[in-house]
Amino acid sequence: MIKRILVTGGAGFLGSHLCERLVKESNYVVCVDNFFTGTRDNVNHLTGDPHFELIRHDIVNPVYLEVDEIYNLACPASPIHYQQNPIKTVKTNVIGVINMLGIAKRAKARILQASTSEVYGDPEEHPQKETYWGRVNPVGIRSCYDEGKRAAECLMMDYRRQNNVNSKIARIFNTYGPRMAIKDGRVVSNFIIQALQGKEITVYGDGSQTRSFCYVDDMVDGLMRMMNTPDDFYGPVNLGNPQEYTILEIAEKIIKMTNSNSKISFHPLPADDPTQRKPDITIASEKIGWKPKISLDDGLVKTIEYFREALKNL
Ligand code: NAD
Ligand code: UDP
Repeated sequence: MIKRILVTGGAGFLGSHLCERLVKESNYVVCVDNFFTGTRDNVNHLTGDPHFELIRHDIVNPVYLEVDEIYNLACPASPIHYQQNPIKTVKTNVIGVINMLGIAKRAKARILQASTSEVYGDPEEHPQKETYWGRVNPVGIRSCYDEGKRAAECLMMDYRRQNNVNSKIARIFNTYGPRMAIKDGRVVSNFIIQALQGKEITVYGDGSQTRSFCYVDDMVDGLMRMMNTPDDFYGPVNLGNPQEYTILEIAEKIIKMTNSNSKISFHPLPADDPTQRKPDITIASEKIGWKPKISLDDGLVKTIEYFREALKNL
């Protein structure tokens, strides 16, 4: 039987790749998006498919849909976007999540929440394991997102305990790839665009802070594996590539890979910017048989190629 799968935030970067994979695997996909950071262009190639439906809707408002599974990805992910209207970011992560859990409860659908490594804040434990409770500033400029996502995790667990909802939590670490928006503002897309345009590469702080970057196809694979785990496995589970780099290393690598003449310029570090981040993926590897397969270099080649084309069409 064909599964009906709701993907919220399906017109965004990650969501559009997920919709594509789900349609390819013969599911019926309902993509819900308010187009805040996502675009129709990201899913244009799917709109003619009889197994794909695109609905413009904001998950902060209730919606009635009959589905078997829900991937809840709706939420701006880039700091500049989630900080643009922080109250809305909290509403998306609390009211929006309650609305999605409401569908899951009524329709007896599985629901997977796209959580984040940001629940660990600026971590003292390194690499981060799922058992670590994190160090989040509850009153800082990132807290609309960090605390919003922590509240969303809490709701996933309470609906599971109180209402037997089959909820699952995936903690996504920095993910990159084609279809990141040109104005997204996250580090990989910023640096590639700057390098291709011969502009200064804007490193925030001294560039010694670290991140671990996962290519989008690996992430989509991890999310789908997580959704399809037995009912009694619900996470939270870390999904990310444990290869850790400083931001300065990323800048230098991208300059080299694009053959760019760009110079690096240093700018103030935004408040509460985590100093280090690297996932421990033991649980993902043991419980869902998942490990990222695509190296940073291979992923960057594909992403650079994408932005080369995208910039031509501006
Ligand atoms: P994105 O900004 O490209 O996509 C988010 C999508 O959600 C966009 O299409 C946007 O228009 C939509 N959206 C936002 N608010 C909405 C609302 N209220 N109602 C309906 N649609 C709404 O970001 P992304 O990188 O694709 O991230 C997708 C999800 O994964 C997010 O929940 C994000 O928090 C999570 N995540 C991503 C990363 C990453 O590195 N990409 C890391 C951790 C977590
Ligand atoms: N960053 C940077 N220059 C940029 C964009 C980001 O140096 O143009 C830094 C940012 O300060 C952070 C890291 O890169 O330390 C990752 O930032 P991003 O916004 O991609 O993700 P997050 O901070 O949410 O992990």
